[in-house]
Amino acid sequence: MEDELPGGYWDEAGNLHRPFELSPLTGHDEELLAGADGATLVSTVLSRCVRRLGALSPVSAEVAADLLTADRLYLLLRLRQATFGSAVNASLICPWPECGQRISLTFSVDDVPVVRSAAPAATYTITPSDPAIGEAEFRLPTGRDQEALTDIDRNEARALTELLTRCLLRLGTVRSPTSEQIAALPSATRAELEQGMYEVAPRVEQTIETTCPECHRVLIAPFDIHRFLFGDLRTDAQLLYQEVHYLAFNYHWSERDILNMPRDHRRTYIAAIAETIGAMHDGT
Ligand SMILES: [Zn+2]
Repeated sequence: MEDELPGGYWDEAGNLHRPFELSPLTGHDEELLAGADGATLVSTVLSRCVRRLGALSPVSAEVAADLLTADRLYLLLRLRQATFGSAVNASLICPWPECGQRISLTFSVDDVPVVRSAAPAATYTITPSDPAIGEAEFRLPTGRDQEALTDIDRNEARALTELLTRCLLRLGTVRSPTSEQIAALPSATRAELEQGMYEVAPRVEQTIETTCPECHRVLIAPFDIHRFLFGDLRTDAQLLYQEVHYLAFNYHWSERDILNMPRDHRRTYIAAIAETIGAMHDGT
């Protein structure tokens, strides 16, 4: 699968890497991912499945960690599509109080709204309306920032201060402002900085606009990409081991070789075995 990141990765030499090639999850990756869903693990799996990113191949876990938050979500979304197909099934309660029915939705991964960077840049500047502040220069949040924030993101205000501390490179004449300096900013200025980042950042919307099949009203369904990808993997962890057993039993392949295959290869071999067994029973 070949595609382009909504944002892009800037290397230290100032080159933008945007097109990527992706291969589906293998049994090994599925096994890894089914265990936990931390940001570090996502970097490991992305480095294994993203074959090429611009001029970079292989893509290290360090590069995967330095990708923009939206780019990582986008890669997970495409990885899900490459491994499990485009259709996503979701079950939820219709949020309209007059309805409140449990409904099943099916949508395509391609329907997830993606906002691409119109003019990707390594850093951006914004001038807050308070003249005392001066121009602010910032970069966009990455997987590494997410990783650093996981412990404190229960406190939203503190997490925002920490995120701004990491992403603000300059505030007026102050280089790399400290978290104390950022915490001391007027909240209107903080809101402006946040809005400024939001406006230039690529986005993968984690909601789907759809119609309730019961009451036919429009509703916005939440779509948590991590939960969908990792949820699929959890349900399938048991099945994965059954498939390994089945292939090892019939072909005498090692567990390692079987786990190195992408899911569709495993399924093709399993289908072939099933056909052979079927043919034997038919006496042909
Ligand atoms: Zn409804």
